[in-house]
Amino acid sequence: MKSIKLFAILLFSILALNISAQQKKYVMVIHGGAGTILKKSMTPEKEAAYIAALTEALKAGYAKIQSGKSSLDAVEATIHILENDPHFNAGKGAVFTHDGRNELDAAIMDGKTLMAGSVAGVTTVKNPISAARAVMEKSEHVMLVGAGADQFAKDAGLEIVNPKYFWTKERWDGLQQAIKEDSTKAVLDHGSKKSELLGIKNHDYKFGTVGCVALDKAGNLAAGTSTGGMTNKKYGRVGDAPIIGAGTYCNNETAGISCTGWGEFYIRNVVAKTISDLMEYKGLSVTEASKIALDKVGKMGGDGGLIALDKKGNMTMPFNTEGMYRGTITADGKIEISIYK
Ligand code: ASP
Repeated sequence: MKSIKLFAILLFSILALNISAQQKKYVMVIHGGAGTILKKSMTPEKEAAYIAALTEALKAGYAKIQSGKSSLDAVEATIHILENDPHFNAGKGAVFTHDGRNELDAAIMDGKTLMAGSVAGVTTVKNPISAARAVMEKSEHVMLVGAGADQFAKDAGLEIVNPKYFWTKERWDGLQQAIKEDSTKAVLDHGSKKSELLGIKNHDYKFGTVGCVALDKAGNLAAGTSTGGMTNKKYGRVGDAPIIGAGTYCNNETAGISCTGWGEFYIRNVVAKTISDLMEYKGLSVTEASKIALDKVGKMGGDGGLIALDKKGNMTMPFNTEGMYRGTITADGKIEISIYK
């Protein structure tokens, strides 16, 4: 009798656990970049600041969703908070190019209509994600670059700032360090793979991009990504973030995806669209599809992570680096933030 009773309790608990797991419906996922983020090299103040910023960003987007606004509104509001926060490599606090400039990239995509907009290499738009949205909604184009994109944003009535606005000491110091390490690397690389043996990974300090995927009350998904790119980038380099299908993609039929990491590998693997395709044509789950796509990046030697959210509110946030700033919020407003593995 006793064992029957025990068995019944066990069965009930398993069922209850299962149901609660199934009911966990995420409405937003965000990231603040992936990279060598180690607990031992983080101060408590810095960690608290990251957690506070990610929480505030999630709350801003969630408020939009709760008030019945679109997932696009939620993505834009969320990314504004992160772009305005100097801790992240997007908007204020963006990394520097080799010649000491901040050239920003951003993209947004609407999962309902498959409309998309992006900007690359802008230098004066305070919130590049809004410029990307303006390209999507107010032009017949998908992607604008450089001075033209800045001009378009100005004409669209967006806030324009002096390029100095983006400057932060930490990123400036990061550039000096990168330039130094690059010259060391060049010497060590001369005829050998020594730099790798010595553990010099010249892309380590280059992450910090921000991204968001949201699912609104109407069941529509939207995804957006915003970044300063990679420290020490040269010659007008553009990363994966503003390239639709590489770093950013969204389709109501599959998922919304925002990537972060070594952009060149994400472009070559068309990561975000590959995830959507694996779901659409192979019937894989968002988690399975994302794992396959990220594994490919890893096998090629690239590193980073991604966030993905499907139309049912299932999400995944894989990464192959030491850490990734990331957060989620469920339909009932429960927030979770993580940084390390
Ligand atoms: N993916 C971005 C780029 O390559 C960098 C990052 O995610 O931090 O531009």
